[in-house]
Amino acid sequence: MACSRLPLPSRLHAIVALTLVILASLLPGGQAAAETLRPVRVSEHAWYVLGDAGMASAANKGFNSNAGFVVTRDSVIVIDALGTPPLGDALLAAIRQVSSKPVKRVILTHYHADHFYGLAAFKAAGAEVWAHEGGKEYFGSGEAAARLAQRQKDLFPWVDENTRLIQADRWLTGDTRFEEGGLHFRITILGPAHAPEDLVVTVEEDGVVFCGDILFAGRIPFVGNADSKRWLAAIDTLVGLKPKVLVTGHGNHSTNAAADLKLTRDYLLYLREQMGKAVEEMVPFEEAYARTDWSRFSKVPAFEAANRINAYGSYLTLERESLAR
Ligand SMILES: [Zn+2]
Repeated sequence: MACSRLPLPSRLHAIVALTLVILASLLPGGQAAAETLRPVRVSEHAWYVLGDAGMASAANKGFNSNAGFVVTRDSVIVIDALGTPPLGDALLAAIRQVSSKPVKRVILTHYHADHFYGLAAFKAAGAEVWAHEGGKEYFGSGEAAARLAQRQKDLFPWVDENTRLIQADRWLTGDTRFEEGGLHFRITILGPAHAPEDLVVTVEEDGVVFCGDILFAGRIPFVGNADSKRWLAAIDTLVGLKPKVLVTGHGNHSTNAAADLKLTRDYLLYLREQMGKAVEEMVPFEEAYARTDWSRFSKVPAFEAANRINAYGSYLTLERESLAR
């Protein structure tokens, strides 16, 4: 090695410097991620950061979802907190590129791992967390602990044994309005739809709606065992809010809500139609899946990763619906 030709003090310096470089490369992605989160401005007061397309993975360090923020006269209101604690730090750093005002509140669109594991940074900065009370079930059911164990395995070291799951300081029981720093915010409860506790946040002065995972722009949504019937109704409510800009939970923001909501709506309708027919005719899932023509959606991003599990979840949902009739 070149440093063996250096005098001893310089050699020691070189070794220390090399060790620091190696250690830095082993650190969780917080600092590195902070440089890469670029706030995108969508209106006078509203911004968001855009996660990678596709599922959370070690390759994208869990950065597969979006989070937004609104800079008011007095403070910053944040919508969602991304999917790992280092990404929460990175989001806060991204906000600091735009504003030094205190972060007063984080509003969660829903309690899915890729939208709230970054909360610790905001709690440490003194923010309060709001979410819909449907989220309480998530912590009571064991689902939260099971998901954390999966993330600790698949997203280590960005999610590890120190990752804390943070519950809301205020659980909302219905639609809520508030005024902050000269702007008017409206929270509309849309769950259960994509998740039991879905809500969307409208910034009235800007015509911006942060809609979480009610819309997956330009990709196949993750449906799982979601209540697709109510999800379709939620899409109609969202269209009715007439947003100028829709900031989604995944994918680019939309300036044409009706067109972008169409893909999610068409896909959900098709799942329900095809799996509903199979349930009615008592065709087993494997057979129904194999004989369904998926060509309308097979080129849409995330189809491979999500379609089969979505179809299976829909099959079970429709079976439940048919038994309840
Ligand atoms: Zn979600």
